[in-house]
Amino acid sequence: MKIYNTLTKKKEEFVPIEEGKVRIYVCGPTVYNYIHIGNARPILVFDTVRRYFEYKGYEVNYVSNYTDVDDKIIKKANEEGVEAHIISERFIKEFIKDTMALNVNEATTHPKATEEIDGMIEMITTLIDKGYAYEKDGTVYFRTRRFEGYGKLSKKNIDDLESGIRIAVNDQKDDPLDFVLWKPKKEGEPSWQSPWSDGRPGWHIECSVMSRKYLGDEIDIHAGGEDLIFPHHENEIAQSEAANGKNFARYWMHNAFLNIDNKKMSKSQGNFFTVREIADKYDLKVLRFFMLNAHYRSPINFSRDLMESAKVSLERITNAYSQLEYFLEMNSESNECTETELEILTELKAFHNKFELAMDDDFNTADAISTIFEIVKLANTHCNTESSRKFVQSFIDEITLLADILGIIISKEKDLLDEDVDALIQARQDARKNKEFKLADEIRDELLSKGIILEDTREGVRWKRA
Ligand code: AMP
Ligand code: ZN
Repeated sequence: MKIYNTLTKKKEEFVPIEEGKVRIYVCGPTVYNYIHIGNARPILVFDTVRRYFEYKGYEVNYVSNYTDVDDKIIKKANEEGVEAHIISERFIKEFIKDTMALNVNEATTHPKATEEIDGMIEMITTLIDKGYAYEKDGTVYFRTRRFEGYGKLSKKNIDDLESGIRIAVNDQKDDPLDFVLWKPKKEGEPSWQSPWSDGRPGWHIECSVMSRKYLGDEIDIHAGGEDLIFPHHENEIAQSEAANGKNFARYWMHNAFLNIDNKKMSKSQGNFFTVREIADKYDLKVLRFFMLNAHYRSPINFSRDLMESAKVSLERITNAYSQLEYFLEMNSESNECTETELEILTELKAFHNKFELAMDDDFNTADAISTIFEIVKLANTHCNTESSRKFVQSFIDEITLLADILGIIISKEKDLLDEDVDALIQARQDARKNKEFKLADEIRDELLSKGIILEDTREGVRWKRA
């Protein structure tokens, strides 16, 4: 398997630290608002990377943090007149809802910055002890020039960086390049006690600490959007390698942006759609499919037209799949494959291998999806009501397997049959007769969730499909 490593700017063969295991850390969201579809890109990309590793038999330890203390969270809390944790807790819940709807698997660990403050104080203390950090009036800074490898990820030269930095008037840093590890609180801000001041950590230190705690000093893959390369990931490397005296991450993976009118979609520019807004118009599996239609290192320019065409493309797969299920129902005799069918199944196997080759080549989901279309074409050409069950089943299994690696759900939720609806209505009537009103309501809600609306009339219960 080859991965493009931002650190070496090359595709490299993946060699895990520990055989059969992958330790991956993906920088997570700052939880002060609903996520937009730009934020959804790394979430979907790295969930797919994880799924593919798991398919290949690796045990994946996947850690992604919540940044739950930050200026933006505090600002929103002040606007609403509530404490910061009320905001972060609310948006962690909303984040979970969105990611579940996008069929994203839950991280092995999802640590919160505010629950890891002790570890941050410990790492900052080590950095001070080793001469990599210093305190000034309650603020602790990282001494950037002291870390020799600074700039190795973003390929920036430290002297060029220095000349590009404007120095704030009241800056107390020894060097403009130095960055904050700990800062004292301002009025109305959440804070924690520390040897330097009552305050809170800088953003970069949290990832260094959580990565070490949950994955160890050295990890296989560290990932995020490409805007995190500098300064966030560069600073994480400096902190972790200075504190631990070990290499931090072997492979650095960064997804390109989701743009709109060729500009990065971002909250601050106001040019964004939230995942929720998209969910009003589309099934979110279309968004997932749309995102994976591009290689993760290629920019995507979002447009309604592209979403529409992703919807139509996905329907080609789901329709073919439903058709295959229909053939299976029709061909109730369990018969063996014919000679011709066996030959076609070798073609199917070749497409499977092509899918893996695409994914092995730096997770080329775009080419992997093309392979699924080739399989769909093969199925549409050769499967029919005369085909053997085994033959049809092989196509169903293959499409299910490949779609599942990409996290795309393709089977349509089956509508309830009229008899099932009648049986559930009867069960609800019985529950009411027995005064089990909670159960009766649950049955009504279950029917409603499947699009069945009940009307209690004098003649009895009537129902219709929504
Ligand atoms: P933020 O909330 O801005 O810290 O972003 C959270 C994650 O989303 C980071 O990995 C960012 O790199 C990523 N991200 C933000 N905007 C975009 C975008 N327009 N396209 C792709 N990734 C993005
Ligand atoms: Zn991070």
